[in-house]
Amino acid sequence: MAKKGFATIDDLDVAGKRVLVRADLNVPMRDGKVTDKTRIERTADTLRELSKKGAKVVLIAHFERPKGKRVPELSLAPVAKAVAEVLGRPVPFANDCIGAEAEAVVAKMKNGDVVVLENLRYHNGEEENDQTFAKNLAKLGDIYINDAFSVSHRAHASTEALANLLPSAAGRSMEAELTALDKALANPVRPVAAVVGGAKVSTKLDLLGNLIKRVNVLVIGGGMANTFLLARGVQVGKSLAEPTLVDTARKIDAEAKKAGCEIVLPEDVVVAKEFKAGAASQVVATGNVPADGMILDLGPKTAQSIIAKLGTCKTVVWNGPLGAFEIPPFDAATNAVAKAVAKMCKDGKLLGVAGGGDTVAALAHAGVVDQFTYVSTAGGAFLEWLEGKDLPGVAALIRSSKAAKH
Ligand code: AMP
Repeated sequence: MAKKGFATIDDLDVAGKRVLVRADLNVPMRDGKVTDKTRIERTADTLRELSKKGAKVVLIAHFERPKGKRVPELSLAPVAKAVAEVLGRPVPFANDCIGAEAEAVVAKMKNGDVVVLENLRYHNGEEENDQTFAKNLAKLGDIYINDAFSVSHRAHASTEALANLLPSAAGRSMEAELTALDKALANPVRPVAAVVGGAKVSTKLDLLGNLIKRVNVLVIGGGMANTFLLARGVQVGKSLAEPTLVDTARKIDAEAKKAGCEIVLPEDVVVAKEFKAGAASQVVATGNVPADGMILDLGPKTAQSIIAKLGTCKTVVWNGPLGAFEIPPFDAATNAVAKAVAKMCKDGKLLGVAGGGDTVAALAHAGVVDQFTYVSTAGGAFLEWLEGKDLPGVAALIRSSKAAKH
C-alpha cells in the first residue's frame, strides 16, 4: 500500500471478488428522473475498472434523508437506470440493501457485473453506524471500496463500520480527491494562499482558525470581509456584517500575524443601495462606504491586487464567492479572480483546488470549473477538511489499510 496512507484499487486483487463500492449517488432528480449525472460520472472510472478486472461490483449509496423508513420517492431505482446509461451496460437493482432480496441479486452476479442496492438510509442502522447493519452489508461483499469522499465526514455504517469488517481501499474518485487535498493544504508547494469568501464569518470560524496556521496568504472576501473591516475601524454602512464577532476577527488577525500569515482585505468595494440585479452601483475606497450603502462585491483594484498576489504563490485553495455573485454586476470580482486562477492553473504556474458550498456554482458561473487543478463537489466534507478535522470515513480507510499491511 499505501504510499498515500491508504490502500487503493492497485493494492487489491479484485478478480472474481464481490466488491462493495460506497458511492455518492445523491444526484439531483426531478419527476423521477436524474437531471445531472456528474456524481455518477465521477465514480464511473472506479466502476469500469473494477468491472474490467473481473470484480462483481455491488454499489451501495444513500439518497436524501428517508430517516430509516422506506419512502418510495427516495428510491435509488431511477438512479440505477442512470448508472446503466453512464456505463452503457445493464445494471440490475435490488429492492433492499441487506437481507434475502439483496443476497439473491448478488448471488446471481457474474464476474464484471454491476448492481445497485436500494437506499442505505431506508435503515436506521446506516446513520447510527450500527454494527449489526454493517455486518449484514458485509455479507454481500469480500472487499469494501469507499469512493464517496462527500459523505466521509459522517461516521455511518457504509463509510466507517464497513472498513473495519472487510479489506478496504479508496476508489479512484476518493483517491483523486485525497491526493488533491493533500497537495493543496497538507503538503503544498509554497507559498500557499487561501481565498475565503461567502456570507458570514460565523459559519467559517474553524476554517479561518485552521487556515491561518497553514497558509502564507489569506485572502478574505465576500460578506465576511465586512466584519474584518469593522474590526479595523472601517465603517461598512448597511452591509452584511456581524458586529458581535469584531473581537473574534481581531483575534484571528493577531493570530495570523503571529503565524506569519498575511491577511489580504479589500482596498476598494462595489456598493449599492439595493440588493437586486442591475441596481445602480459604484466603486468606492473601503474607507468611503456611504452610510446607506451596502458592499456587494470587491472592487476592481482589489481583484487586481488579489490576482497579483496569487501570481506570487504556487498553490491556492478556494472556498466561497468574493461577492454576491448570483446577482450581476456583483459577480465581477469572483469572475475576474476565478478566470485568472484558472489561467495560472492551465499555464502550470499554480495548483488550484476549490470546493465547498456555493464555490462550485460560483466557478461554474465564471465558466472555469474544468480549468482548476481540482474542484471538489463535496460540500460539508470539503469544509470539514479545510477546518482541519479528521474525517471518519477517511480515518477508517487509513486504519484498515494499516491493519492489513498491504
Ligand atoms: P457561503 O454559503 O457562506 O459560502 O455564502 C455564499 C453567499 O454569500 C452567496 O450567496 C453570496 O451571494 C453571498 N455573499 C458574498 N458576498 C456578499 C456580500 N458582500 N454581501 C452579501 N452577501 C454576499
